[in-house]
Amino acid sequence: MPALEQLDADFEKAWQDTAFRTEFNDLLREYVGRPNPLTEAKRLSEDTGLHVTIKREDLNHTGAHKINNALGQALLAVRMGKKRIIAETGAGQHGVATATVCALLGLECEVYMGEEDIERQMLNVFRMKLLGAKVNPVSSGTKTLKDALNEAMRDWVTNVDSTHYIIGTAAGPHPYPYMVREFQRVIGDEARAQYFERYALTPDAVIACVGGGSNAIGFFAGFYGDDSTRMVGVEAGGRGLTSGAHAAPLTAGSPGVLHGSYSYLMQDDDGQVIGTHSVSAGLDYPGVGAEHSYLKDLGRAEYVAVTDEEALDALQWVAHREGLICALETAHAFAALKIPGLFKPGERVIVNMSGRGDKDMVTVAGLLKL
Ligand SMILES: *Cc1c(COP(=O)(O)O)cnc(C)c1O
Repeated sequence: MPALEQLDADFEKAWQDTAFRTEFNDLLREYVGRPNPLTEAKRLSEDTGLHVTIKREDLNHTGAHKINNALGQALLAVRMGKKRIIAETGAGQHGVATATVCALLGLECEVYMGEEDIERQMLNVFRMKLLGAKVNPVSSGTKTLKDALNEAMRDWVTNVDSTHYIIGTAAGPHPYPYMVREFQRVIGDEARAQYFERYALTPDAVIACVGGGSNAIGFFAGFYGDDSTRMVGVEAGGRGLTSGAHAAPLTAGSPGVLHGSYSYLMQDDDGQVIGTHSVSAGLDYPGVGAEHSYLKDLGRAEYVAVTDEEALDALQWVAHREGLICALETAHAFAALKIPGLFKPGERVIVNMSGRGDKDMVTVAGLLKL
């Protein structure tokens, strides 16, 4: 608790400091490559009868939205006088983003990663090492993301004086969900301004995939003041919600406690966390950020799930029709455009393209016969 309270106070001070904001915004522009475009998707619009635009987080340095948060937290760590950074990673995307900003800012970096994931994501492990990070294999539990998070938390409480823990999504204990949302809200703020500039309108709906919830919450936050804009979060339905093999706590879970927060969760009758499945490693997490749980209970945001198969179809659809190869996670958001009855004809929507698909090509090639 003292570590979290210190972090809460330090973040609050930094976030209200113009010098910190300027440093963050300058690096987002000059290093990450922001603002990224808002692309009109004419052919997806034709196919769906909707008006579709796409926010292009895939064009950020390192290929996804994760660097927005990694950069913000690394700058905060420097400000707090911490020289050592730790992080957890599943597919390796957050690990790579964290190793990247640590190289940029001259910070020592150690990444916890499940042994199972290390085997599945060799290329990202190599990238992290090339960037100067140490990758610590985690052999407990299912040897995946949730176990890596446990190990990182253990390291943090042991080394809290020297170390900052960069959580990769808007989950975990306060202040993380709030802090990560604030570092990611550049997605929504930028998209809203770009949309208004081009169409002199606000969109009818914004759509994003939800793993822990960071790209979605940062995107949605830009539209909190627009009561007429729907927010649609898309979870990993895996092999189907009735199969039990999915990662959809908001659509098919129940409230419980995991990793220091109370939120929707995949758990059994005894409150034990149950195994998850998704074709996309970045959505394969049994919990979700508390703010999404709150938005769901308020009825302000809507959450749906799409299956592995629907996501794979959407990935091919967007590639064929728009020349954009998205990440498997993002493919879930695009798949929602085809859910019968979810959107009204002519509805104006923005899909957040959270990342590009390069990292998934080996997985996808193994699943598709082309
Ligand atoms: C990690 C990742 C996600 C899922 O994480 P959130 O915190 O829910 O955003 C989604 N898309 C991409 C491309 C990712 O790398």
